[in-house]
Amino acid sequence: MFIAGKWEEAAGGRRFDVTNPANGEVLADVPDGGAQDAARAIDAAFDAFPGWAGATAYDRSRALFKAWQIMMERKEELALTMTREQGKPIRAARNEVQYAADFLQWYSEEAKRVYGATIPSARADQRFITLRQPVGVVAAITPWNYPVSMITRKLAPALAAGCTLVLKPAEATPLCAVEMFKIFEEAGFPPGVVNLVTAGDPAPIGEEFVSNRKVAKLTFTGSTPVGKMLAGRAAAEMKRVSCELGGHAPFLVFGDADPVHAAKGAQLVKFLNTGQACISPNRMLVQRALVDDFVGTLSERVGSMKAGNGLEDGITIGPLVNQAAVDKVAAQVEDAAAKGAEIVCGGKRLTDGGLDKGFFYAPTVLAGVTPEMRIYREETFGPVAPVIAFDDDDEALAMANDTHYGLAAYVYTQNNSRAMRMFEGLNFGIIGINDINPTSAAAPFGGMNDSGLGREGGRDGIDEYLETKLGGFSI
Ligand code: NAD
Repeated sequence: MFIAGKWEEAAGGRRFDVTNPANGEVLADVPDGGAQDAARAIDAAFDAFPGWAGATAYDRSRALFKAWQIMMERKEELALTMTREQGKPIRAARNEVQYAADFLQWYSEEAKRVYGATIPSARADQRFITLRQPVGVVAAITPWNYPVSMITRKLAPALAAGCTLVLKPAEATPLCAVEMFKIFEEAGFPPGVVNLVTAGDPAPIGEEFVSNRKVAKLTFTGSTPVGKMLAGRAAAEMKRVSCELGGHAPFLVFGDADPVHAAKGAQLVKFLNTGQACISPNRMLVQRALVDDFVGTLSERVGSMKAGNGLEDGITIGPLVNQAAVDKVAAQVEDAAAKGAEIVCGGKRLTDGGLDKGFFYAPTVLAGVTPEMRIYREETFGPVAPVIAFDDDDEALAMANDTHYGLAAYVYTQNNSRAMRMFEGLNFGIIGINDINPTSAAAPFGGMNDSGLGREGGRDGIDEYLETKLGGFSI
């Protein structure tokens, strides 16, 4: 753990193992922190806050830029750690490291553009001016599925704004966090500005984050139930909260789209990170006339994917995170099949060739999915593409919006009017129009309803860490 600029053990002296989900191998062990360690880290961040908030934007920018430079030098090491610890194929890990580094670079620039305003008053003897100031100590909780980019997406804007912070990474992927904090240490952030607490049991640390009066803001990425619980607790203390939670993205393919192009896009985005992405499509809604062509191309491409250890050549899909994730996917597929869905490809656990040592499930395409099936509403977070037919635009929009989640949606159409109607009508925070990667450090990422509160990335991303202060001057 990294507290007040020093690498430390947990107060209780315990450590926990980190394993490779592709083969069960123990990779390392890390300190198993608790509430006492979280409180110590919060104290360090609190003490460091006046100095960091008072540094110039140019000082903060330089430290972030330095961290970006070191990260670019360590790209390959970080990607290897990520594949071992989290399981995604090495090419995807390299892409994530680049995406993660982009946040450091972008917010090193944005640090210098935190502007206030002058506001005309109705009184001749009055002037209004606003200041934008950092909110204070930030407590951050990140998930295992994107173990590096979820860190920089929170920490870069917080640090640019002048906040100090404590991070608790997911228990499945603390090694990526440790590597990132070595980078922050070398980049020269003053002691206490960035603090890391690792833990096998997240609950006591979460409780300290939401109850400690020195924490001004909680930023959380993870599941909807945990996000709701923490946001509720934080509300009792009137803390600011941002949450990036689960999703159930619709992927709409209209009759005027090219079904082969759409199916290629669907395969790429659905099976990215073995379906363990919050913006992963969970319902492929396809206009009836295109269903056969779409399913044909999709299943052909899915059938040729190769599962295994992401460090080996030719592997295109890695393991799930743990046995519970495999069981959840299997249960959703069995439920759908029992209620009449057709398993077009996949539909089973993978155990041959040593895969039984890891958590593998075959990439799967289901056709004929209906609203009675669990997969129609529950987030899968796994490698299953359920295909559902629709007849017209109104029905497609109603089906797409028939969810409590509201993170991402995708639309394939060649018709501009339809594209705009869908962009305006879909109740989701991120819409890809003929585009499967509507994300960037420069653009706001976040959801509506059960998918969360607030935005990360772009100008909106730094606003989450700033207070607006009004000055009314009588002259
Ligand atoms: P999770 O909620 O179990 O864990 C996420 C983080 O919360 C981890 O760091 C975990 O240790 C911590 N946590 C769990 N219980 C806690 C508690 N009681 N107190 C404090 N912290 C606690 O979710 P997960 O299974 O690790 O991640 C998958 C979920 O995250 C999915 O639902 C996915 O959609 C969502 N997710 C969302 C985004 C996004 O940007 N919207 C990105 C990635 C993942």
